[in-house]
Amino acid sequence: MSFVVTPPAPAAVPVAGGAPGAQFPVHRIYCVGRNYVEHAKEMGFTGREPPFFFMKPADAVLPVAEGMVGRMHYPSLTKDLHHEVELVVAIGQGGRNITAADAMKHVWGYAVGLDMTRRDLQGEAKKQGRPWCIGKGFDESAPIGPIRPAAQCQVGPDTAIVLDVNGAKRQASTIGKLIWSIPEIIEHVSAAWTLAPGDLIFTGTPEGVAAVVAGDTLSARIDGVGTLQVQVVQG
Ligand code: MN
Repeated sequence: MSFVVTPPAPAAVPVAGGAPGAQFPVHRIYCVGRNYVEHAKEMGFTGREPPFFFMKPADAVLPVAEGMVGRMHYPSLTKDLHHEVELVVAIGQGGRNITAADAMKHVWGYAVGLDMTRRDLQGEAKKQGRPWCIGKGFDESAPIGPIRPAAQCQVGPDTAIVLDVNGAKRQASTIGKLIWSIPEIIEHVSAAWTLAPGDLIFTGTPEGVAAVVAGDTLSARIDGVGTLQVQVVQG
C-alpha cells in the first residue's frame, strides 16, 4: 500500500505523571452541550433537556505540556471568541452501549480542556438551523493540558473547576454540578457512537463564559487533575 499524499501526523496529547515523552493519541473529540444548569440559563435555556453532543476534529487539539503556556492563534471570521473551561475524559477502552454502572472502567484519564467557541458564528448557526462546526470545530479550538491517569486523579462532586483570564476570575464551579455525570455521559455517547481508545469527551462548561482577545492569558485548573495555561496571540 502507498499513500498518494503524505499522511497527517496523528493528533496526540502529552501524558502527565507517566513515562517522559508518553503521549495519548487522539481518535475523536466528543463534546457535551449545556451540561451545567447555570450555563444553560446564561445561554437562554432551562437546563432540563436530554444530553446532546457535537464534535471537533481530532487535530483541533492544542496540546499544552505541563508547566508550559500554549499559544492559540485568534481564529478567523469571528469577533467573539469565547472560553469554556471543561473537564476532559480520555477513553482507554472502547465499546458500544456501555452502561453507566460499567462506564468508569473505560476511562483512562482526565485533563483540563478549553472548548473555545466562535460564539457569533455559533449563534448565527443556531438561528439558521445550521450545523455548529464553524462555531466549534475550528483549528486550535480544543486547547488541552496533559492527560493524567485516572488512578492518579481525584475527581469527585466537590472538585473545583476554575478559569481566570489575566488573573481575574471568569468561571468557577464544581464537577458535582454537571447535569449529566461522567458515567451517564459515557452511556449516552456510546449509545450513539462506538467509543474507541483515544477518544476525548469534553464534558461541558459551567457559567461565566465570555470573550477573550489577542494578548489575554487563560489559566484553567481542575483540582486533582491539573492546570492549563493558554495565551491568545494574533491570528
Ligand atoms: Mn462546551
